[in-house]
Amino acid sequence: MPYGYHGKILRVDLSKGSTWVEEKDEQFYRRYMGGGALGAYYVLQNVKPGTDAFDPQNVIVFGGSVVTGVRIAGFTRHSVTSVSPLTGGILDSEAGGFWGRELKAAGYDAIVVEGKAPKPVYLWINDGEVEIKDAGHLWGKVTGEAQDIIRQENGDQRIRVLGIGPAGENMVRYACILNELRDANGRGGLGAVMGSKNLKAIAVRGNNFPEVADPETVKKIARSFVKKFKDFGTGRLRQLGTGGTPIAQNSTSQLPTHNWKTGYFENADKISAQTFHETMFAGDEGCFACPVVCKKAVKAEEPYKIDPRYGGPEYETLAALGSYTGISDINAVAKGHELCNKYSLDTISTGAVIAFAMDCYENGILSKEDADGLELKFGNASVLVPLIEKIARREGVGDLLAEGVKRIAAKLGPESEKLAVHCKGLEFPAHEPRVKRSLALAYGTTPIGADHMASEHDPNIAPTAPDLVADRLKPLGINERVELDDLGSKKVSFFYQTSIIYSMLNCLDICMFCMAPSRPINYNELVDAVDAVTGWETSLLELAKVGERRLLMMRAFNNACGMTKEDDLLPPRMHEPLASGDTKGNKIDKKEYRQALETLYELSGWDEDGRPRNSKMIALDLDWVGERLKAN
Ligand code: SF4
Repeated sequence: MPYGYHGKILRVDLSKGSTWVEEKDEQFYRRYMGGGALGAYYVLQNVKPGTDAFDPQNVIVFGGSVVTGVRIAGFTRHSVTSVSPLTGGILDSEAGGFWGRELKAAGYDAIVVEGKAPKPVYLWINDGEVEIKDAGHLWGKVTGEAQDIIRQENGDQRIRVLGIGPAGENMVRYACILNELRDANGRGGLGAVMGSKNLKAIAVRGNNFPEVADPETVKKIARSFVKKFKDFGTGRLRQLGTGGTPIAQNSTSQLPTHNWKTGYFENADKISAQTFHETMFAGDEGCFACPVVCKKAVKAEEPYKIDPRYGGPEYETLAALGSYTGISDINAVAKGHELCNKYSLDTISTGAVIAFAMDCYENGILSKEDADGLELKFGNASVLVPLIEKIARREGVGDLLAEGVKRIAAKLGPESEKLAVHCKGLEFPAHEPRVKRSLALAYGTTPIGADHMASEHDPNIAPTAPDLVADRLKPLGINERVELDDLGSKKVSFFYQTSIIYSMLNCLDICMFCMAPSRPINYNELVDAVDAVTGWETSLLELAKVGERRLLMMRAFNNACGMTKEDDLLPPRMHEPLASGDTKGNKIDKKEYRQALETLYELSGWDEDGRPRNSKMIALDLDWVGERLKAN
């Protein structure tokens, strides 16, 4: 009997309206474990490289890992994997909350959905029973209304619902998937893939959580983790969430501002949690079994009515809707956040697209007429809400903006390309590679595009890092300090090693805030936790190999889609100097970046064109991948 997982994958063909259960053996689970690795396995097995994200032949995979849902802090996330409507390559994105645990309690480790339903539907999974139900009455409704109706019509308020709003239905290329109305599989357009399949939601409920191998040890580890978090002092994260970060980032001039022209925003304090806590705070929220409780809900009656059920803006949202666009009106930013969660829009890409449109407007590339009469100047808060509404519904200029920065620039012409900040088509999150230099590699080479959760950030090994933090990286063999803006071989090695660890956490679907290398949990304890749940005898080496396997599968798929080393390059703006603040003048040297790429390719076992070498694939038991990708 397996421990920690069921050995059951639910398969759904929406074109045929059929479902079936696939049983996988222990070797499969031990090799892929869950999250992005399991998702990548099913994409590679089922999708021909080059298939359009909106083609019914694309699949979308939902699921946690062998440890998801066990009552240990941070073991709570689930992943969604598919082809991205923004990049055309493979994409996975993780979310916190409760849905991943409930899916397991409902009897399945993962769900693989293929085809396209002839009319809107939702999946209802209740203690192993599966129904494809009509969603005609839910289509067009925002996430909260749809969730309420699903719970009501199935007679249980404890049902966990994952779903999309109108932006997903309208296939906005950066539509996301929401669960609990505030936790998002945010990046890359997974909500649009659901919309393309006429799949409004997946509702789960159950009482059949799998047994763990050693319950006493699991409890002991859970208590130890809680104590460590308390000793570590999760103070600021607990008090302000990540919303306290704009001020910290701005104090070192690395808060992306005005479409990445500068790292300094004079009004950073106005878009920080320190400010909205005094006026809008509506309560603390967290994920299953986590004592950190890092999410902060907001509510307001005026000038905008803001419903606290949709949570509150975290750092990335405050920066994307705030400093990227130069908007310092916290009411507009908080309302923008609520609307994004109602409509299922990725807040990062939404802010990035609006900031890009403002840059084009100020440079005469986009006119007031093009913008439906809106004055798209940096700092104009009055345009934020109308633009989000237009994007979600693809109305007027919103239809253009719904395409994402890469495609908008292709339509507007070469002058706009210079202002377009994305990698592979995914818009930049709010961390500055011209200051934290290893992020250039993270954004450039991570398979999903510009991803800030792909590796440890540079400040944790910088000379200024507290000993306590830098010491935590030593068990990974990282024991040398490197300057923030260094992009030499030591920094490349730091990126390479920590990217594997982050990928490992992604495959286990564990929260990075709890378990990233710079956090207080020792990885021997993580291995003990995996063993106590599954009954296996693993090691950090085995778990890290799972992480590397995910990265290699994704890279190989992208290569088969036609991506080359040119797709690892950075947008022009990263090679231009930051315009103001303490980091004024910082830029990434093209030659130095090319050299860093070459070093990374060698460390990773990729050839000079950035393709994984056969020997590397064999070492990671991925010898099936090459043949499979050719055969698809
Ligand atoms: S730290 Fe925050 S995001 Fe992570 S599991 Fe806890 S509450 Fe969720």
